[in-house]
Amino acid sequence: MNLSFRNRIALFYLIATAFVMTVVFGIVYVSVRGTVYQNIDKDLAFEARKHAAEISVIGDSIYFTNKAELEEHEHREVQVNPVFIQIMNADGRLMDKSPNLKGDLIPFKEIEEYGTHFNAFLKERAIRQVQIPIEKGGELKGYIVAAMSLEASLMVIQNLRNVLLISYPISLLALFFVSRYMAGQSISPVKHITETTQKITKNQFHKRVQLPANKDELYDLSTSINELLQRIEQAIDRERQFTSDASHELRTPLSSLRGTLEVLIRKPRQQEEYEEKIRYGLAEIDRMTGTIEQLLLLARLDSDNHAQKDQYLPLDLLCDSIISHHQRTIEQRHIEMMVKQEIKQPVAVPQYYASLILENLIGNAVKYSPDGGSIHLTMKQTGEDVLCSIQDHGIGIREEDLEQVFHPFFRSEALSHKHISGNGLGLSIAKKAADAIGAEVKVSSQPGKGSTFTLRFFKPILR
Ligand code: ADP
Repeated sequence: MNLSFRNRIALFYLIATAFVMTVVFGIVYVSVRGTVYQNIDKDLAFEARKHAAEISVIGDSIYFTNKAELEEHEHREVQVNPVFIQIMNADGRLMDKSPNLKGDLIPFKEIEEYGTHFNAFLKERAIRQVQIPIEKGGELKGYIVAAMSLEASLMVIQNLRNVLLISYPISLLALFFVSRYMAGQSISPVKHITETTQKITKNQFHKRVQLPANKDELYDLSTSINELLQRIEQAIDRERQFTSDASHELRTPLSSLRGTLEVLIRKPRQQEEYEEKIRYGLAEIDRMTGTIEQLLLLARLDSDNHAQKDQYLPLDLLCDSIISHHQRTIEQRHIEMMVKQEIKQPVAVPQYYASLILENLIGNAVKYSPDGGSIHLTMKQTGEDVLCSIQDHGIGIREEDLEQVFHPFFRSEALSHKHISGNGLGLSIAKKAADAIGAEVKVSSQPGKGSTFTLRFFKPILR
């Protein structure tokens, strides 16, 4: 059954209430009925016992001792619910009866236990009846049969039953509509959420869901939807920025290549000039290829994570091999590279991802160090983690740029160090690779004094 949320709430509420009402109405009905019968039976038993004391048993005949008084009593008092008395002998034959019975006779019934009350009919009128044995000298002489009209009581019970039966469906129906309305009211913020989210199209991620007045579960839901929208908006902005930066990064060398070729073709040139321009063109193509490869690497790091399948290599071996990649530049620029291994036990790290990170960090330390500068590479253990810090004494980074250096294409004060080539992708690759293996890269720096990049491996494998 495809019910709306508010109808479902109303229906569940209805079922629960119907169950409770059935139990409560049942208890009310049974206890009122019981009380009514209890009162009648009490009156009837009292009357029967009273009249049992007012009879005379002589030989086989039993009769009211003072019938005239009985008659006068009936005349004197207008009885709302008269008691009919009848005396029967042991064989069930009528001996005497109260004058109010006139020509009628209460049907005598052979029963197992005399003294119990039961329902019967007196000329089609419902009565409550009790039969009490009359004994004399231990011998059963007959019975006193007392009866009282049940009609008034039955009417009370019947009225109660009708009231309960009619009010049951009516109150359930009313309850269904009231609870449906109230459920509708209380989930109205959900409607706002749906309406707002439906309005959000590709270019409208700045829209937010209106927060409900009450700080309840729906308030939390709206808040988390707004936070989600905020994150989506930021991701889309980053994506846009990335696309625009990437196309700019590729368009610039292409335009300069085109310019160079256009100039070359305008008139015949010397062989050396051709060679020089072609070499320049090839360098630009290499630069573009490098950027495209890094972009592909970034995309790959985003889409699939093979960290689990990566081979593990001792950290010190990995650092040595990366330093050896840069050995020529280090020597040419007279940079002093100092490696400190403070880890007692050797640790293994994922080879592919860790070398992507360290390649960029060590490469940058070399790139941004002055000729004759020094770089300290320290591996140490803190608790269960292993830290690998690369400290240089190069140009440093402005404090306000520290967060951004991990964003793609961001280059801090690129114009002030035009001679240092780069495209701003290295650290974003390092950051993504660190995320993939659950490691952390942090930076601290002072402009003009140098930078320290710290890579933390959380609980790496100890060999
Ligand atoms: P790039 O190719 O420009 O070096 P990266 O992503 O590796 O790109 O670095 C981003 C920016 O962070 C660099 O342009 C530079 O401004 C800054 N940076 C990174 N490493 C260092 C460092 N060791 N010293 C000074 N600045 C650095």
